[in-house]
Amino acid sequence: MVIYGYNSTFLGGEQLKSATCPECGTQGSMEMGVWRRHAHVFWIPMFPIGKYGVVACTHCNAKFEKKKEIPETVRRDFDQFKSQARGPLWQFSGLGIIAIIVVAVSITSAQNTKRDKAYIAEPIEGDIYNYEPEDGFYSNMKVMLVDTDTIYLSQNNLMTNKKSGVKELDKPENYDSLIYGYPKSDLRQMYEDGTIYEVDRKE
Ligand SMILES: [Zn+2]
Repeated sequence: MVIYGYNSTFLGGEQLKSATCPECGTQGSMEMGVWRRHAHVFWIPMFPIGKYGVVACTHCNAKFEKKKEIPETVRRDFDQFKSQARGPLWQFSGLGIIAIIVVAVSITSAQNTKRDKAYIAEPIEGDIYNYEPEDGFYSNMKVMLVDTDTIYLSQNNLMTNKKSGVKELDKPENYDSLIYGYPKSDLRQMYEDGTIYEVDRKE
């Protein structure tokens, strides 16, 4: 299965009326055409790579593709035509899609941060804090009780070195029966310095 490759799109062509074919000597029989290549992934055009062109004689079918092969008499017209040919915007589709995804992800992440901040400010029983107790290790703490200025947490006895695996640790039997009280301000501090990096609340 081909998942990536190259493709071309035709940008335009023109007849070279005053030129004479170097192969058959016919005047006005030569035409030029310009294409632009693009890379595609899963058939989605990603970005253009470059333009190329061909000069051909419609009378004797002679073809001139490489820069050196293109007859001197038409080279200037050809170069000008090629440099002025504009490629379509859709050849950038993939980059456009990636840009949209990047923007969407950063909006989502900003919304999550805002939501987590609100959760930290107003904790409720049952909130789960995903945190980094040691560098490279992740675990959870569960809110057991909320008092005016103090919050009571139970720590998970398990840790994981995979950030993505932290939610799997959140099982009732994994939480320690010892409960610790923290000032709410400590909690905010742990969130500010990144020790607590995510809040899960069942709603
Ligand atoms: Zn010819």
